[in-house]
Order: sequence, then C-alpha cells, then structure tokens
Amino acid sequence: MEEIIKDMERYAEANNVPIIEKDSIIFIAKYIKMNGVKKILELGTAIGYSAILMALASEDVEITTIERDEKKYREAVKNVNRSGLDKRIEIVFNDALDVNLAGYKYDLIFIDAAKGQYIKFFEKFENYLNPGGIIITDNLKFHGLVKNKDKIESKNVKGLVTKIEKYIEFLKDNDEFVTRFYDIGDGLSVSFRKNDENVKNID
Ligand code: SAH
Ligand code: MG
Repeated sequence: MEEIIKDMERYAEANNVPIIEKDSIIFIAKYIKMNGVKKILELGTAIGYSAILMALASEDVEITTIERDEKKYREAVKNVNRSGLDKRIEIVFNDALDVNLAGYKYDLIFIDAAKGQYIKFFEKFENYLNPGGIIITDNLKFHGLVKNKDKIESKNVKGLVTKIEKYIEFLKDNDEFVTRFYDIGDGLSVSFRKNDENVKNID
C-alpha cells in the first residue's frame, strides 16, 4: 500500500494534480475514527488519493466519490483497483451538480471539487447529510492566495479567490450550520448542524 500511495504522490506532483495535504488527511482520518464514520461522499476524486487514504482510516468506511474529468477518473479507477479497495470506494464519473443521490445519506461529505462552486455544492449536498454528519471543505486558503489577493495578477485566479471568500462568508452567516475553520494544510472547514453541536468530536 505504501508503494501505491507513493506512486500517486509522484504522479500528482508530475501532473500538477492538487491532492490533499498530509496534515489535512491526518485530521480527517482522526475524525473518521473518533466518530465512527461509515458513509462518506467526496466531491472531486482526482486520482483517488484522498479517497484511498480516507478508506484506510477505518475498515467500516464506504466512500462514494465523484469526478467529472475523464482522464482523472480513469486514473482513479486504476489506483483504487490496485489498492484492492474497490469494494469500499465507488467512483462516479459525472459532474457532482448533475448527480442524483436521492435516498442516500452520509456521515461525512468532503467538498474538494471546483473551488468556484463551493456554495452550490454545499446547498445541494447538505440535504444528503445524516443526523450528526459533517461537511468538510478543503483549500479554503487556496494555496495561500486567499490572504494575498492584491498580489494576484490572473483575473481567473482572483475570481476564484473572491468566490472562496464568499463561501467563507456564506458559512459564517449560515443559520443552520455552525462552521469551524482550521489552519491545517491548505485550510479546512468543518460544518455541522447547530443542534448537533454537542455531539461532535472534532479536535
Ligand atoms: N480530492 C482529491 C483532489 C481533488 S482535485 C485529493 O485530495 O486527492 C479537484 C477535482 O475535482 C479535479 O479532479 C476536478 O476535475 C474535479 N471537479 C471539479 N469540479 C467538479 C464537479 N463539478 N464535479 C465533479 N468533479 C469536479
Ligand atoms: Mg483539496
């Protein structure tokens, strides 16, 4: 397994795939274990790196992960098969905003797809949360750029950063969810329903 993970890290580096940072996966794995998480939904599989590491956190975990890019999807299928975790990781090749998951509920939803669509993802997928479930969002610092907006030259990148800032405001102002922000990895948030506040084992 070590070797498979190392290979994925090398592939990500060589192909500019933004995989999750070590500290973030340690944080999520700890949450999975401490809270008996069983069902996970991930938006943005990329090459399957975070899905595989979340599945390794506990044998009880089953993951559905969604990827819209065909090349990445294929790479993820290859990696998940090679890891032998294909019984516990289901990869869906589609746009997350087009997927219909009616009838399914998750203990943990990990938002890690297009950074410009975070609010849309949250609004759609909060409906798929089990009681006591949480939504974790990655890359809220967007590689450190959220704090250094003035220095960004690309209009596109600046636009994305503005959207991430709006998402952070959206979370802070949300009437239904409480969100905690963590300076871990590239910036993580953990959101849970207000009435669940006392049952969460986060840090
Ligand atoms: N979770 C991965 C990294 C994901 S990178 C890891 O940490 O290992 C973000 C991925 O989201 C990219 O592969 C991109 O193709 C995918 N993506 C972006 N928007 C999407 C959407 N609307 N639906 C499905 N996948 C999307
Ligand atoms: Mg990420």
